[in-house]
Amino acid sequence: MKPRHCAGCGRPDPWEDVGQGRVRCRACGFVVWSNPVPVALAVQPVGRGVLLVRRAQDPGRGLWALPGGYLNPHEAPEDAARRELQEETAVVGRHPQLVAVVGGLRDNTLIIAYRMEPLVDLQAPVTAAPEEVLDVQVFSLDELPLLAFSVHEEILAAVFKEP
Ligand SMILES: [Zn+2]
Repeated sequence: MKPRHCAGCGRPDPWEDVGQGRVRCRACGFVVWSNPVPVALAVQPVGRGVLLVRRAQDPGRGLWALPGGYLNPHEAPEDAARRELQEETAVVGRHPQLVAVVGGLRDNTLIIAYRMEPLVDLQAPVTAAPEEVLDVQVFSLDELPLLAFSVHEEILAAVFKEP
């Protein structure tokens, strides 16, 4: 996604298309690479269900999703998945295992999903980030709500596929 002003020289709308989804400033040559942005997700099994959050922000405001978010500078993706899980649900994820790396082609993200060690039970889950999350709930796998992102559905289907 290109900004209005060039970060190199500050000129407004200086962009020319140089192919492969990139633009370059006509004045100073600064290139906006637009590489996919990594997003870390946490799949936290609880009993025979999975922990989901109801999003407080767009995209998908009001819909359910796997906990997760962008990586902090120099943060490993598994650490980001655990941090986001804890921030959004107050659950401390243990032993993250990589379960999916998927290009979110429409929004130019790269989703990196980790499954945490299953919890036996979770009483009255709450969020520690009410500005990001409206609600936290454990859903049975055969009664999942409408999710904000179809790729989250695909990840859940793959992770919990019957052998
Ligand atoms: Zn420039």
